[in-house]
Amino acid sequence: MEVNCEGCAGCCIDWRAVGDGASDHERRGARRPLDDAYNLVPLTRDDARAFLDAGLADALTPRLWRADDGAAVDGVELAAIDGQPVFFLGLRQTAKPVEPFGTDAHWLPTCVFLDPTTLQCRIHDREEYPTECAEYPGHNLELDAETECERVESAFGGERLLDGDPPTSLSGLLLGPQAVGQKVFVYPDPDDLDGVVDRARADELTADDRARFVAAAVAARPGTTDVDRERFETALERAAAADSWAGRAVAEWEATAGTTGDEAPDPDVAERIEDDRGAPSTPGW
Ligand code: SF4
Ligand code: SF4
Repeated sequence: MEVNCEGCAGCCIDWRAVGDGASDHERRGARRPLDDAYNLVPLTRDDARAFLDAGLADALTPRLWRADDGAAVDGVELAAIDGQPVFFLGLRQTAKPVEPFGTDAHWLPTCVFLDPTTLQCRIHDREEYPTECAEYPGHNLELDAETECERVESAFGGERLLDGDPPTSLSGLLLGPQAVGQKVFVYPDPDDLDGVVDRARADELTADDRARFVAAAVAARPGTTDVDRERFETALERAAAADSWAGRAVAEWEATAGTTGDEAPDPDVAERIEDDRGAPSTPGW
């Protein structure tokens, strides 16, 4: 596997507003996400623990799904196992001014950790760098599924996927039952989620809402739907207290960003919004 990521970040940006060819791969089948995120990064339980330990729990957000026969919360049938709603834990996205694929600057939903000025990941060399990001698009290649690199090539030209052979070392795919408690988590008390589901649908989750899901992921027991109650309570307290550069930067981006797809100012405004708040710098290409 070899990819040409310079000037791309196609797997870190929701670029649907500036190019044809984006895919609906996250919205096929019977289960539909409540959110509208594109290319949500599903974190593992170990990833979630690393983010919590790094004080970055406020950079995480859940994905819940609608299903025909799940657990009813706020009048919505949620995908569930044994009556307990299931979710992915992912990274927050917020509109930033970015210039991917040689385009002019536009406001596009972008991973909280992407440096808009270099289009590089701010946590690339850190403990919390997600496994999914480190290995992308390895699992797609192993499954013979289309990659974001190829979608970017189709929409904007250029060569992104330079070698499509799957890497020899790749973590387990975590599909089906083995994903439970490791990448697909259950929320233990559906009654806690009254109001949360409405807010998830409106893209108005609060910090406390998101902290609940971080805690449930951190306290999951792999291969089971059990949640360690003591660990849940401790993690909930720590997650709710998170006040990182990332969470504060998202708040300012949300207060200042234009409409998705609109022209945006120079990405270097990120220096004030992210770098000055303590965001790790990126080296450039
Ligand atoms: S879409 Fe592919 S080429 Fe582009 S940044 Fe992601 S991995 Fe790299
Ligand atoms: S964590 Fe880094 S590599 Fe992963 S989606 Fe965010 S910016 Fe991209």
